[in-house]
Amino acid sequence: MPTERRSLIMLFGGTGDLAIRKLYPAMFKLYQKGNIRDHFAVIGSSRYKVDDAKFREMVEKSVAKESSDKKLIANFASHFYFVTHDVTDLAHYAVLKSKIEELDKKYELQGNRVFYISMAPNFFGTVAKNIKNQNLLSSDGFNRLVIEKPFGRDFESASELNNELSAAFDENQIFRIDHYLGKEMIQNIEAIRFGNTIFEALWNNRYIDNVQVTLAEKLGVEERAGYYDNSGALRDMVQNHIMQIVSLLAMEQPVAFKDTDIRAEKVKALRSLRVYNVAEASSNFVRGQYAAMGNGKEYRQEDGVPKDSNTETFVAGKLMFDNYRWSGTPFYIRTGKKLADKFTRVDVVFKKPLVDIFAFPQSGSAPLTANVLTIFIEPNQGFSLTVNAKNSEQGFHTEPVSLKFLEDSKRTKETPQPYERLIHDVLKGDGTNFASWPEVASAWKFVDQIRRVWDIQQPMFPNYIPGSMGPVSADELLARDHREWVYKLNQ
Ligand code: NAD
Repeated sequence: MPTERRSLIMLFGGTGDLAIRKLYPAMFKLYQKGNIRDHFAVIGSSRYKVDDAKFREMVEKSVAKESSDKKLIANFASHFYFVTHDVTDLAHYAVLKSKIEELDKKYELQGNRVFYISMAPNFFGTVAKNIKNQNLLSSDGFNRLVIEKPFGRDFESASELNNELSAAFDENQIFRIDHYLGKEMIQNIEAIRFGNTIFEALWNNRYIDNVQVTLAEKLGVEERAGYYDNSGALRDMVQNHIMQIVSLLAMEQPVAFKDTDIRAEKVKALRSLRVYNVAEASSNFVRGQYAAMGNGKEYRQEDGVPKDSNTETFVAGKLMFDNYRWSGTPFYIRTGKKLADKFTRVDVVFKKPLVDIFAFPQSGSAPLTANVLTIFIEPNQGFSLTVNAKNSEQGFHTEPVSLKFLEDSKRTKETPQPYERLIHDVLKGDGTNFASWPEVASAWKFVDQIRRVWDIQQPMFPNYIPGSMGPVSADELLARDHREWVYKLNQ
């Protein structure tokens, strides 16, 4: 039987898109499994005038596809309450406070409180400050703050926000959501690395030639154009998700598998990431913006995007770690919209054997290929390892063969979704899969430098066709180093 987590969840932005599409279904899964059961309550709040009954209807509707058990859904929804509340109006916090205290008693929550801010980022600081100043914090149980992305738009604004949050909450009480960290195969990176001698022993610049991380999206900006144009792929994907993945791949082995130890190693890795000067930033990073194709509009023609927008919808870059483990081994990253397919994968390319004894002139054997460990993060979950082996034909010819493990689609479907894992982690107080401030700060310092250079250089946009893997310059970035992307079109 799973441990029941007692807590009140105070959700700011309770009628918003994220709450309805992701958070309530995730909470319902936790309820189905017994991680939350009798001793929990959720207060949704927003400026809408909604009563408890209407709110419960919304919640029931949002979880309806998760179960056909109407009674279970109704029982779950009975734990939900609504308070109409404008987060900028101090008087409203008194109402919240008395509701929180009433539900704490009713459900015997022992003063445990999670404050989840699922609102536009400009409210994060205000709400955190008011939670403290208006005495919403509990003095006997735990107090935890969950913050959605984006966390600032550069180092300076992120620092300001962090100062605001730190005035009300300690770092170990702040859970900064990066939903990529809730994905099964991202969490599996640590298992693959530290659970297998055959990988960890070779996990360094002596044996690894380069590492590639690809987060490809098939869709364009859709209805998020207004937000996206202000952000771009570098801020939207690289600063957070890609930096987190890269730090898990690059970090040293933590002393123990617990949040403080893992975070300490991720921070160390990110601090050894080389922050580029102007010349390095402009040669090691390339950007793209999608063109029109078929019925699809080019990025600059999308609704809500200025006709002269220089916002990038694609980024590729080369990252270098200046430490003993990685010196000289590049990490190539790329992400973009309207690419060939939607997937996330990591390719770890090992060095070829120093001597190829099969490649004597008469052998006719093809040269040995590099071993590649591919970690499939989504939509497939699994990994593959290519090794060279003799083929079974007459003579002696080697060819690469693939050892592959893919989770079957039924299990992939049953795998807990990121928000379910992450909310569960918050209730447990486990910060492993959240971004700590030093990680966020290092990532911004790196990304800001690229942005600074891009802001003064005029890009040649649009420069890639939808359905491709980005602009030619992304391939040239590797070709220059006599390398190529492992994943190519039509594979
Ligand atoms: P949304 O605009 O749909 O919801 C915002 C909520 O805040 C609504 O309930 C609204 O009524 C409420 N609100 C606005 N002003 C208020 C005020 N003054 N006082 C009280 N309530 C107020 O936004 P969303 O898409 O749900 O996003 C919420 C957060 O999650 C954002 O930080 C966003 O960046 C992040 N996020 C969203 C998604 C997604 O898929 N929607 C994905 C990743 C991250």
